[in-house]
Amino acid sequence: SMASPALLMRVVASAYSVAEKAATIVRNVMSAGDLGIVEKAGPNDLQTKADRLVQMSICASLARKFPKVTIIGEEELPTGDVTEDLIEDGHCEEILKKPCPAQYTGIKEEELVIWVDPLDGTKEYTEGLLDHVTVLIGIAYGGKAIAGVINQPYYNYEAGDNAALGRTIWGVLGMGAFGFQLTEAPAGKHIVVTTRSHSSALVNECITALNPDAVIRVGGAGNKIIQLIEGKASAYVFASPGCKKWDTCAPEAILHAVGGKITDIRGNPFQYNKEVKHMNSAGVLATLRNYDYYASRIPNTVKESLVP
Ligand code: AMP
Ligand code: MG
Ligand code: MG
Repeated sequence: SMASPALLMRVVASAYSVAEKAATIVRNVMSAGDLGIVEKAGPNDLQTKADRLVQMSICASLARKFPKVTIIGEEELPTGDVTEDLIEDGHCEEILKKPCPAQYTGIKEEELVIWVDPLDGTKEYTEGLLDHVTVLIGIAYGGKAIAGVINQPYYNYEAGDNAALGRTIWGVLGMGAFGFQLTEAPAGKHIVVTTRSHSSALVNECITALNPDAVIRVGGAGNKIIQLIEGKASAYVFASPGCKKWDTCAPEAILHAVGGKITDIRGNPFQYNKEVKHMNSAGVLATLRNYDYYASRIPNTVKESLVP
């Protein structure tokens, strides 16, 4: 008989289904109409009922199946019982059938860290910019982002009723990434994608120094990585603290699985072990191609303003 699938593939297969359930919750909260908005650090740091319910759903569902895995979610919530209707126990059969990359077959539960952003792009969600929103489940081993699931609950929402709403992108290092069409950005053009709701003088100074042909301002770290892998933008540049490990873990795994690169603005890789500081204090620089072109043009004054 077949050997049982490797732990990593079981976790990714479950995370896929858990992210689809999360997307349903995100859509249901919006259509019910009461977002239950709470300010965290301030008016640009929001939490909605969807952030809360999805975090409980993802964390409780994965913890039930993989009790020894460390799971770190964005939202601080009172620890209480999660109602059964929030639990997803399914998995994606297709993922489970794929062979695990050899270097990951021996991983044990206690060696994995899962970084959960239940709803990335909350500010945009509250403003009705629905396709900016993603659900992020990143999987780390040995401090490295090795696998990830990005669900985009409102993918295609402006395409009309005949278009399938929502999609799930997933990837594993050494295996590739799936659920989208990898597309190169226009050759010879420098298109920068950055924040729309967390700009600052430094964020703009850094972009100006790159002299881009175009700047796209959209919400969400997950959404911006999708812009890179679908050829809409050539670099994600964010010269500011604010982004956290749960924002970058799943996007990093997927971007790296297709040959891209993400670091802080100074060129340092991110670490994802459970003890690491949550804040990406030195910002974000990510590309699918030509990382060095952008890295070499970040001004030293900008780098020196951002302390890891
Ligand atoms: P953005 O590109 O502005 O959508 O930011 C990407 C991610 O980082 C989102 O999860 C934001 O909530 C988070 N983020 C970025 N800057 C800040 C900030 N100044 N305060 C709180 N969260 C931030
Ligand atoms: Mg986020
Ligand atoms: Mg969030």
